[in-house]
Amino acid sequence: MILIFCAPSGSGKSTFVKHLLGKYDNFELSISATSRSPRGTEKHGVEYYFLSADEFRRLIAEDKLIEYQEVYKDHFYGTLRSEIERIQKKGHHVVFDVDVKGGLNLKKIFGKEAVAVFIQPPSIEELRRRLEGRGTDSKEMIEQRLAKASTEMQDAPFFDHIIVNDKLETALADLEKLLHQYKMIN
Ligand code: ADP
Ligand code: 5GP
Repeated sequence: MILIFCAPSGSGKSTFVKHLLGKYDNFELSISATSRSPRGTEKHGVEYYFLSADEFRRLIAEDKLIEYQEVYKDHFYGTLRSEIERIQKKGHHVVFDVDVKGGLNLKKIFGKEAVAVFIQPPSIEELRRRLEGRGTDSKEMIEQRLAKASTEMQDAPFFDHIIVNDKLETALADLEKLLHQYKMIN
C-alpha cells in the first residue's frame, strides 16, 4: 500500500513518519529529491536527496520523477520513480511526506492502492508556534510557509482522512486506528 501524508509545513508530518518508522518495520519513507539546502542535521540520502536546481531540472527532463512541485520559489521537491520501485521490491508500504498538490496527484496516480491523510494543525497560531519552536527556518521562510498553509488547509476535504494533530499522543493513536482499518498494521 501507499500511505500519503500531507499537511502545511510544521503540522507534524515528520513527527508522524518518525513514529511510524520507529515502531513498525514494514513501512519505508519515500525519500524525495529537493533543490533546497539541508537544514540542521539533515543528510543526503536520509531525509532527502539534495540536488542543485540544475540537477533537479535534468531529472525532470529525463522523466525520472513521478511527480514534482516547485513548493517554494526555486525550491523544487519531487519523487523519483526508482524510489517507489526500491521500496515495493522489499514488500514494504511506501510512505510519502509531500505537499498538498503532490499528495493529491499521487492519490490520483495510485487510486485505491493509496490512503491519503491530511494532518491538520489545531490553528494557524499554533502552526506558527511550532515552526518558530522548531527553529530551523528563517523568519522570512516561516512567513512563506504560513502564507501557503492557509491555502493548503482548504484542500483538506479532498483527502481520504483528516487527523488533527493537537495532542500528539491522541493524533498518533488516531493514525494507528486508521492503519489498522486498512490492515497495514495488526
Ligand atoms: P512537518 O514535518 O509537518 O513540517 P514537524 O513534524 O517537523 O512538521 O513538526 C513541527 C514542529 O512541531 C516540531 O518541532 C515538532 O516537534 C512539533 N510538534 C509536532 N507535533 C506536535 C504536537 N502535537 N504538539 C506540539 N508540538 C508538535
Ligand atoms: P521541507 O522543506 O519542510 O522539508 O518541505 C517542504 C514541503 O515540501 C513539505 O510540505 C513537504 O511535504 C513537501 N515535499 C517534500 N517532498 C516532496 C515531493 O517529493 N513532492 C512534493 N510535491 N512535495 C514534497
